[in-house]
Amino acid sequence: MKIYDYLIIGAGSAGCNIAHFLKRNKNKIAVIDREGIAGGASGAAGAFLSPLPGKKNLYNSFVNDALNFSLDFYEKLVPNEIEKKGVLRVPSTNFNNIKLQNNYMKYEYFDTKKLQNISKNFKDIDGYFYENAAVLEPLKICKKLLDGCDFYQKDISKLIFKDGVYEVGKLRAKNIILAQGVNTSLINIPYIKISPIFGLRVDVKTTTKIPFNIHKSISISTNKNDGTLSIGATQQRHDAADMKCETTCDKCTFYINTDEAQIKTLLDQANELIELENLEVIKVYKGARATIKSYFPTIGKVINDEASLKKYPTIKNGTKIPLESLIYYKNLYVINALGSRGFVFAPYLAKILCENIINNIHIPKELSTQKLFFKMARSKKITII
Ligand SMILES: Cc1cc2nc3c(=O)[nH]c(=O)nc-3n(C[C@H](O)[C@H](O)[C@H](O)COP(=O)(O)OP(=O)(O)OC[C@H]3O[C@@H](n4cnc5c(N)ncnc54)[C@H](O)[C@@H]3O)c2cc1C
Repeated sequence: MKIYDYLIIGAGSAGCNIAHFLKRNKNKIAVIDREGIAGGASGAAGAFLSPLPGKKNLYNSFVNDALNFSLDFYEKLVPNEIEKKGVLRVPSTNFNNIKLQNNYMKYEYFDTKKLQNISKNFKDIDGYFYENAAVLEPLKICKKLLDGCDFYQKDISKLIFKDGVYEVGKLRAKNIILAQGVNTSLINIPYIKISPIFGLRVDVKTTTKIPFNIHKSISISTNKNDGTLSIGATQQRHDAADMKCETTCDKCTFYINTDEAQIKTLLDQANELIELENLEVIKVYKGARATIKSYFPTIGKVINDEASLKKYPTIKNGTKIPLESLIYYKNLYVINALGSRGFVFAPYLAKILCENIINNIHIPKELSTQKLFFKMARSKKITII
């Protein structure tokens, strides 16, 4: 029987990128997804790649480092599938003029006159132009990333670890990587508390030429190769307590009949930025972003929290334990919580996780599973039995 080196559960941006990076290291890889390739949040994504402006801090430095890496990566991987024409950020409540001007990144200010010289369809807006921005076609990217990997469309409900090998249905693998997005994890990982943010995006046809991506509270893409453009996305926090995410948003009762209102919101907001002539909505996509409170995504080995706390109960009082002394599930890794920037983060995270798995290179603290575990352990709510 064929034993894979790595079996990845989830064929979204996270799973496909880690598959690609591990494959480059000559590993035998299988990827599994019950919905097909990019059947979850990844298929719904815009997928806009935009910088995060503002004064320099840990988070926007991470976002912009990831963006630079990923733009370069996609340009080499799929030179014909990436539209890198920059983005115009229009001031909004979250990003007002002051925030956009107090910026550690290079930008060019476009006043209304300049914009209307570029296209008469621009409304009475102004904004800040950043060169380093693009838009992608998510399904094509995910498929390309899986070149050379085996793909199986299956719903996995159980992981069994026996004699040093994982049994997943009829498949066998030495290592597992969980890349499940908002879906209920196959292992209980209480320190990674995923909270889903639902969203909807539309692809439209229009005779208006859009010179670059435009972003205010929603984004409008430049015209793509096939003449369509994307407008996205709405955001609706999914606060239903303990509701398990077992299906895609398309089939989820929580979201039934919300489409029309959400499409209208998107088109109205787009229309405040630029007039889209002869507009026709051609496809609607729905998905849920996986987020955690810290905003940073998380990657690394999966810690067995109960066993670790039993062995080192003083962790909860703040005792420092060397990371290698914690107890981990055997050969089990996670890449998740990519939030609203899954296509910006995934190649960068996959590179870091791959280097950690293969060469034991350190994962930055803010991205590590250990940081989330220690945080949960030291919070007052936990009791050790
Ligand atoms: C509307 C919308 C717009 C967005 N726009 C952008 C954007 O413009 N730019 C950007 O960078 N990001 C954007 N995002 C965010 C981005 O899509 C996500 O961050 C990213 O796709 C997450 O990738 P993932 O692989 O972690 O999750 P997913 O793509 O959700 O993949 C997880 C997969 O795991 C599978 N799975 C889970 N459990 C099992 C199981 N037990 N058995 C089999 N399969 C399983 C699921 O079917 C799913 O396909 C957007 C998201 C949404 C929803």
